[in-house]
Amino acid sequence: MSSDVMVMGGGIVGLATAWELLRSGATVSVLERNLCGQEASWAGAGILSPLLPWDYPEAVTQLTQFSAHLFPRFVDALQAETGVDPEYQASGMLVLPDSSSQAYVEPGTFDMCSRMLLAKHWCARHAIPVQEVQSSQIAPSLSRDTAALWLPEVCQVRNPRLLQALIRAVKMLGGKVLEHAEVAGWKIERGYVQSIHTVAGERHSAGQYVVAAGAWSRGLLAEHAAALEAWPVRGQILLFKAQPGLLEPMVFDERDNFYLIPRRDGHILAGSTLEEAGFDKSTTPEARETLLARAQALIPVLAEEMIAAHWAGLRPASPHNIPVISMHPAISNLYLNSGHYRYGVTMAPGSAQLIANMILGKLQPLDVTPYQWPHRAI
Ligand SMILES: Cc1cc2nc3c(=O)[nH]c(=O)nc-3n(C[C@H](O)[C@H](O)[C@H](O)COP(=O)(O)OP(=O)(O)OC[C@H]3O[C@@H](n4cnc5c(N)ncnc54)[C@H](O)[C@@H]3O)c2cc1C
Repeated sequence: MSSDVMVMGGGIVGLATAWELLRSGATVSVLERNLCGQEASWAGAGILSPLLPWDYPEAVTQLTQFSAHLFPRFVDALQAETGVDPEYQASGMLVLPDSSSQAYVEPGTFDMCSRMLLAKHWCARHAIPVQEVQSSQIAPSLSRDTAALWLPEVCQVRNPRLLQALIRAVKMLGGKVLEHAEVAGWKIERGYVQSIHTVAGERHSAGQYVVAAGAWSRGLLAEHAAALEAWPVRGQILLFKAQPGLLEPMVFDERDNFYLIPRRDGHILAGSTLEEAGFDKSTTPEARETLLARAQALIPVLAEEMIAAHWAGLRPASPHNIPVISMHPAISNLYLNSGHYRYGVTMAPGSAQLIANMILGKLQPLDVTPYQWPHRAI
């Protein structure tokens, strides 16, 4: 099999990259170790924004805002082409702030002014609508009535549906999707990838290669990982089945670092844990208990018998949550699009466009130096 570009990894980042390249006229193949769209991208909550965007470096803000701006057209085109509705909606985010914590402003600098004030200033600077409200005004079912921040334009998407649409769209544009094809090794000569081989011993070649294997990217690159800082961070989520309308907005409780995400059909996601557990993707009774207790503390009617599912996924962690979207420092036809950590769904359309522009030699719409490999210090 030979194509212009080979994408390794069939999560949201790999699939969005493949689709972007196909739409630009390239021929693309996707190699996926298991089935596409079953790992972190499936497991995520689908919030299309950093949880507290004012707590992140500018490189994260730049990419998430660029991606948020692309999202409406991204989902419209996917839905029009595939007929799959990814349930993209601006359900808004209600933030219940933790007034005791400090605020990150710039590297090494901490502002002691109130979190809410800082958040409002940050939103004003970035043209993000925000209001100070009483939480009961926006979400009457919450047991905690407190001064809160309301971000009405924060959107969400239903991950499994977005992935289903992307897989279909990639295939419809002629992308070759090879599942159960685990990349196991490289043939590299004179700074150039000649081919890769899979666990089954099949050899595949392409003009350019993109690693988009999420938490597994470092392992896939093996001795070619070139100082890449990447590691897995497990996240667990509980899914409740409630009556539609019990909760309308997304809610983030800063005190417990905990969110509730309502879907249209009444499902409510409660998450998520942040655990360093290596590549262990199991769910744990401790996390189930903690997530249930936090969910019930916010909405008392949520009960054990309403739990419809409990799952875990492995986030591709990176320093400061800044992904690498870059050519390899020493191998000229090898690229990496990985390390999106907590915001890979949010960043997917944006980082797909940036990596495609690099491969196709097009101008970039923003400064891509923060995403270079190896990472620059921020
Ligand atoms: C609990 C949880 C909640 C989250 N919530 C949000 C949220 O609300 N909003 C948000 O924006 N983000 C969220 N995230 C983060 C987001 O899900 C990830 O950043 C994103 O899914 C990363 O996508 P990816 O394609 O890089 O990785 P993955 O989806 O993990 O895909 C990587 C793929 O590579 C494949 N692969 C691995 N090794 C090989 C190999 N050797 N050969 C071939 N294929 C290989 C894997 O099988 C996998 O399919 C959340 C994550 C978790 C776990």
